[in-house]
Amino acid sequence: MKKDDYWTILKIILWTTKYFQTNKIKNARLEVEWFLCHVLSCKRIDLYLQFENILNENKLNIFKSMITRRVSGEPFQYIIEKGTFYGRDFIVNSNVLIPRPETELIIDRVKEKKGITSILDVGTGSGCIAITCFLEKLCNDISAIDISNEALNVAKKNAAHYNVTSIKFKLHDFLNDNLNKKFDMILSNPPYIELQQMKNLPNDVKKFEPHIALTDNKDGLSFYNKFANSFNNMINPNGCLILEINDKIKLKKIINIFHTKNLQTNVFKDLQNDNRVLEIYK
Ligand code: GLN
Repeated sequence: MKKDDYWTILKIILWTTKYFQTNKIKNARLEVEWFLCHVLSCKRIDLYLQFENILNENKLNIFKSMITRRVSGEPFQYIIEKGTFYGRDFIVNSNVLIPRPETELIIDRVKEKKGITSILDVGTGSGCIAITCFLEKLCNDISAIDISNEALNVAKKNAAHYNVTSIKFKLHDFLNDNLNKKFDMILSNPPYIELQQMKNLPNDVKKFEPHIALTDNKDGLSFYNKFANSFNNMINPNGCLILEINDKIKLKKIINIFHTKNLQTNVFKDLQNDNRVLEIYK
């Protein structure tokens, strides 16, 4: 066989980039390079030093199965089992939501507060919020709950990866069970999509991300209602709630839920200028 017949790194990059573009995948070239980095356990810069190298059959097969999954619409992060949050990698799989850059605003808001001695993360998923709070040294006493054992396993793996041993992870059904402790601050990116809206989500989200992390199977307001009703039982005096919200769904309704309980609210916008985070306090 001539050298031309082998799949060199360069040839793979060029061929797959075209294949991805034909399948309407944005950032085609970048994604191809990231997949290759994953298969070869190397950095992007290292790929460029081995353009003429040939991928062995085993690695080529792994790569092929990844691009088949990607072309079927599966999000890139689930395939490489990694998503980025606040500049760090977190392990992800189909049991947890892929961390979103918008959610990083929650961390920025926590950074603005001083003297927080306890934090609870409700619906921790991959654990990205709770673990980031710890790694950014925002608080030492952090608890994180989730209704899904599978999600908690991912969160615990992420904590272990960063050698974080002090976060208390607990299986807890927030909507139906009461917390028996109060916190200075509760953070959450709750499932806020209305059931009726689920069909309008992009396919990669709808088909691959866990529905339990996206919707409450009702009006998308269940978590906000529970937070409002239980505020006094879960938040210490002078404490606050910091919750993710979705601009496009009923911001007024959400704010009203808290105002009717005599709570104050403050809305913060993300980098897209969408209302994204709501702070609630007495
Ligand atoms: N807390 C996790 C995140 O922000 C998961 C949120 C969720 O599952 N709704 O990514």
